[in-house]
Amino acid sequence: MRTLQMVDTKTQYLKIKNEVDAAVLNVMESSQFIGGKVVNDFAINLGTYNGVKHVIPCANGTDALQISMMALGLKPGDEVITPSFTYIATVEAAALLQLKPVFVEVDKSTFCIDPEALEKAITPKTKAIIPVHLYGHAAEMEKIMAIAKKYNLFVIEDNAQAIGCDYTFTDGTIAKTGGIGHIGCTSFYPSKNLGAFGDGGAIFTNDDALAEKLKMIAAHGQSKRYYHDLVGCNSRLDAIQAAILDIKLKHLDEYIAARRKAADFYDRAFAGNEKITTPRRAVYSNHVFHQYTLIVNNTDRDGLNKYLADKVVPSMIYYPVPSHKQKMFAAFGGGDYQLPVTDWLTERVISLPIHTELDEEQQNFIVSNVLDYIN
Ligand SMILES: *Cc1c(COP(=O)(O)O)cnc(C)c1O
Repeated sequence: MRTLQMVDTKTQYLKIKNEVDAAVLNVMESSQFIGGKVVNDFAINLGTYNGVKHVIPCANGTDALQISMMALGLKPGDEVITPSFTYIATVEAAALLQLKPVFVEVDKSTFCIDPEALEKAITPKTKAIIPVHLYGHAAEMEKIMAIAKKYNLFVIEDNAQAIGCDYTFTDGTIAKTGGIGHIGCTSFYPSKNLGAFGDGGAIFTNDDALAEKLKMIAAHGQSKRYYHDLVGCNSRLDAIQAAILDIKLKHLDEYIAARRKAADFYDRAFAGNEKITTPRRAVYSNHVFHQYTLIVNNTDRDGLNKYLADKVVPSMIYYPVPSHKQKMFAAFGGGDYQLPVTDWLTERVISLPIHTELDEEQQNFIVSNVLDYIN
């Protein structure tokens, strides 16, 4: 059996090695390392894939979120509502910009922001909502957009884990996550579903004026070379990364299918086990399985995590500490929150290896070890 890993980017690379190597060498020979045709072509292709008018590439997903909040003109003290149950990057940039992160509950079955809790957290200072499509499953965007409209708020989708995910509205319209809110942010961190060979990120919008502003902010606020109209930052996607991503983009749907196949296998293997809740796929969202995350009940979750490690089966706790309990947010009243669903999930989630290269032998081994401990 091949060694188990949470993500197997090496085997994935070897399957497209010739194409990738040629594309990288091509950039080196062109010596157009920053910007240029390769980066622009990738941005256009990604926009077409995601059904969004503008794609602004940047250095990473965290920058994408920060640049988005800067472009929306949010001011110190403005409140930004986000789920506590997420990766820290979703909210860190808000704090950095002296905005106030406001943490709300997630839905127990989808791990995504609870629209009712979100609406209750709105105050006159609220300016934006950042839903996170956690683990590759969409948040309830139709409800979230309706709330945003009612209270005149911006929506920035954190789509770092869900690129390629389809959201179905009640009228049957389908849209890809990241292209539904005013802005969408994604990450090309190597382990993400569309992963680079280094860091990378992108910002999506359908709004022409916003696109212009996002582009300027990512490039030192410049309107034309050496004319700086806004305070910005320096956030670029390397041409080498763009060249690799453009190749991987062509395989993205096939990669997602492979992840779904692996998820289906796990679903079948754990079906009916009363101590295990397998990931839900709500009617409005398909799932791109950035993570395959179980909820284990009446089980020592950390014990399971250690047991699997002893059997050389990797597993991860995403995330062991929710945002409202991170020391970083103590100054924002982090410790005062009562988020029982978030706390409940934090104690029970465990993610198993999921990627494009898993085979049945590997999955059988993972499953039997999980069941050996649980039963
Ligand atoms: C990965 C990730 C980010 C940040 O992306 P980076 O490219 O690592 O900066 C933001 N939000 C979520 C939910 C993520 O998973």
